[in-house]
Amino acid sequence: MVSLANPAPVTKIQAIRYARHERTAEANFTMPVDDHDLPMPLDYYVWAVHREGHQPLIVDTGFGEHAAAARGRTMIRDVAQGLRDAGIDHLLVEDVILTHLHYDHAGSLNVFPNAKFHVQDDEMAFATGRQVCDHGVRAPFDGEPVAQLVRKLYADHVIFHDGDEDFAPGIRLCKAPGHTAGLMVVVCETARGPVVLCSDAAHLYANITRSIPFPIFVDEAAYAAAQVKVMELAGGSLDHVIPGHDPLVLSCFPSENDIARVDLPPHRPIAEEI
Ligand SMILES: [Zn+2]
Ligand SMILES: [Zn+2]
Repeated sequence: MVSLANPAPVTKIQAIRYARHERTAEANFTMPVDDHDLPMPLDYYVWAVHREGHQPLIVDTGFGEHAAAARGRTMIRDVAQGLRDAGIDHLLVEDVILTHLHYDHAGSLNVFPNAKFHVQDDEMAFATGRQVCDHGVRAPFDGEPVAQLVRKLYADHVIFHDGDEDFAPGIRLCKAPGHTAGLMVVVCETARGPVVLCSDAAHLYANITRSIPFPIFVDEAAYAAAQVKVMELAGGSLDHVIPGHDPLVLSCFPSENDIARVDLPPHRPIAEEI
């Protein structure tokens, strides 16, 4: 119980859906699953972390129309509109956490012309290094946003992180690689306890509960270890984990206009919804 005299540092967290990809379950797991031919779409989100006295902290930028067309994703609204729908002026955003540099997480840097971008050392090194010569490894990255990030580095708009670091009181960045070389999750202290924005450490709750990875990773053992770390950071409760692409986020947490309030508890325990 948090008293008014000691409010939680993070007052609100919004998961803002901007795009979707219809697919069947088999596309979401590395191993055969019983429900392989059933629909299991991915949703695409950016997240906004609110504190008293600060502009909202944005976690990931999402992608735009060009990437959606190139990759067959369905835009629900562009990211700037999604932020406006959430009451946020993207031009005023001061800090953007890039959980990793895949196209769907770092594909709209220019929506935030006044922001500093936070990224792990290993993520930047990987996305600009020799590993990208492998076309399979390269596939989830787009070159142009990575090039934009390099240009922002030269304009003093990039802040590097190495491992686990406090971003601000009640907001901690924790490295959880495996899906990519330098993926980081964001741990927020809310009135209901920690909420872990875990990005693609788990695309779906089912990647955790079934212990079957989503089929994009650079290190499978590290990917599994990252999910163990995420669950520890979440106090062992799925209700405190927000996966990167799960439609259950919108259906299980209080939501309106494709924006879920994940600082609030889910309507029912997530474990009962899967
Ligand atoms: Zn990813
Ligand atoms: Zn993703």
